[in-house]
Amino acid sequence: MDDAIADNLARVRERIAAAAIHAGRRPEDVMLVAVSKTKSADAVAAAIAAGQTVFGENRVQEAAAKFPPLRAAHPAIRLHIIGGLQTNKARDAVRLADVIESLDRPRLADAIADAAAKEGRMPELLVEVNVGDEPQKAGVARADADAFIADCKGRFGAALRGLMAVPPAGEDPAPHFTWLADRAARHGLPVVSMGMSADFEIAIACGATWVRVGSAIFGSRA
Ligand SMILES: *Cc1c(COP(=O)(O)O)cnc(C)c1O
Repeated sequence: MDDAIADNLARVRERIAAAAIHAGRRPEDVMLVAVSKTKSADAVAAAIAAGQTVFGENRVQEAAAKFPPLRAAHPAIRLHIIGGLQTNKARDAVRLADVIESLDRPRLADAIADAAAKEGRMPELLVEVNVGDEPQKAGVARADADAFIADCKGRFGAALRGLMAVPPAGEDPAPHFTWLADRAARHGLPVVSMGMSADFEIAIACGATWVRVGSAIFGSRA
């Protein structure tokens, strides 16, 4: 397993670098978030051994079980919460995460602000936009995005780093990626988190600064 993860990581890193260069960008301007949801702590440890430091998890409870021991052994690793976040999990998320990528509604902003005050630590934040306006999906609706981003900027200041999205499955993601990158630029936000195993090269061509890649590194999920 360890060799497969190291090989997969090397290949994903090469593909990120090639996509960046192809887009006239620098490879080091695209950060890889290795998405380890449903995978074991051993799998994460194998990725760490292969030089990966930034990880993404969907569920706070799973992250809370997996990451504290890994962090104790490897203080440099960074954890991003990338899944839809319930307000009653905000405090755990603030305690655990370096970045919360899924800030998508005013009540969650309230819960994060409250938790940050209690914990004495504020993670970096991304606003998640529901770029396809899909009813079942997390993210602020496109029509509400500008107002919500502006509110979060006013409230969180520099802790608000950028925007995140997962485009609708089965559609060309490029127009959605371009829309998100344009929105981030308009708000003066440096981070654009978009692109997964199936489409990270397209996302890089459209301006992604972070890509979130799971199965291409850790193998398919059950
Ligand atoms: C699972 C997940 C990913 C990674 O997906 P892969 O297709 O396995 O690369 C990225 N972003 C989010 C929000 C996810 O839930």
